[in-house]
Amino acid sequence: MRALFARLAQSDFRRRFRLGPKEWDYLCEKGSELIRRHAADFIAARLAPAEPPHDGKQTPMRGHPVFIAQHATATCCRGCLAKWHGLPRGRPLDAAEQARVVEVLMHWLEQQAAPLARRRSAASPARKLAKPKPLTSGSDPVQRDLFD
Ligand SMILES: [Zn+2]
Repeated sequence: MRALFARLAQSDFRRRFRLGPKEWDYLCEKGSELIRRHAADFIAARLAPAEPPHDGKQTPMRGHPVFIAQHATATCCRGCLAKWHGLPRGRPLDAAEQARVVEVLMHWLEQQAAPLARRRSAASPARKLAKPKPLTSGSDPVQRDLFD
């Protein structure tokens, strides 16, 4: 895990990703156990199949803290999982592999949360956000802004 995060820190692209205020509010409101379940659901539905729908663009750039974490940790698509995590494309991810991806995501979110917690003003109330809809074929998840 440490080696992976050291490599990610050297990528200007991966390093760019940060939780925005909306994702941060959502994380605070839902709590890390629920966020972990969302992460497991996203990975199972969007990454784990041998040939995930819309592979390469199944992970929106915003709208859920886990999506941001996926881009930041190169767990956004099967191409990135192959390149960064040594998980070959074209076959399903098994339960242990999915669990490892979820751990990576939660580790990144915890890293983000520490400085954000210090910065966060008590005056900003958590906003209510709709739970992201499951991926449906025919929709383009990249274009969808879940906050709108
Ligand atoms: Zn990717």
